[in-house]
Amino acid sequence: MLRYEDFLQNLAHVQADIAAACARARRTPGEVQLLAVTKTHPAAAAEFAARAGLRAVGENRVQEAIEKRALSTAPIAWELIGHLQSNKVRLAAAHFDRVQSVDREKLLPLLARAADELGRTLPVLLQINAGDDPAKFGADVAEAPALLESALAQRSLRVDGLMTIAPLSDDPEIARRTFARLRTLRDELAARFGVPLRELSMGMSGDLALAIAEGSTLIRVGTALFGARPPRV
Ligand SMILES: *Cc1c(COP(=O)(O)O)cnc(C)c1O
Repeated sequence: MLRYEDFLQNLAHVQADIAAACARARRTPGEVQLLAVTKTHPAAAAEFAARAGLRAVGENRVQEAIEKRALSTAPIAWELIGHLQSNKVRLAAAHFDRVQSVDREKLLPLLARAADELGRTLPVLLQINAGDDPAKFGADVAEAPALLESALAQRSLRVDGLMTIAPLSDDPEIARRTFARLRTLRDELAARFGVPLRELSMGMSGDLALAIAEGSTLIRVGTALFGARPPRV
């Protein structure tokens, strides 16, 4: 785990990259939120993010996040960005402030019932496999309208927008096309269903500038803030 001073330096670099990408795209940096991805790092990573004034951290495993959140007093939101299994839905609804990885219709009534029982409205994003990557979770673009329609029918869910992960590739054009496709899909769905779908969660350490150029409102950054992740055991 790096020292707080090093984290602040990394954060300054990321914020400068965000500002530069926004300037090139004629956008204001306030339109792009930074989600600190703390997966595999100790609970202290969330404390760092909170101390530096960030709004939220992202975790990709339900159990790991619950354990860290229990150790943490950081005033910061926790968001699930990893695949959600049906049998973890109740835990996810109880312990996360938002779930970005809603990728199939089957999850919706389960999440809605869990949120209902907790007496809360659960904000969600719909994860779309906009790069048609067989290695990635996410609903196909063609399934997105049905997924959104089902999500909007659940009173205890609030659909904030869409999320995607670009395919791993040396060719930046692949990521750019993936992000542009998610934005186009968002625009189509927002018009067709009459909902804002404000959030476009796209872009990570390696492709955040491209994502901002294509309209990202939420970049999810781990490595560039906290360094390389230790291998999972
Ligand atoms: C790990 C992860 C990230 C962060 O990736 P970095 O390359 O470390 O910035 C972003 N989004 C998701 C869904 C992830 O699982």
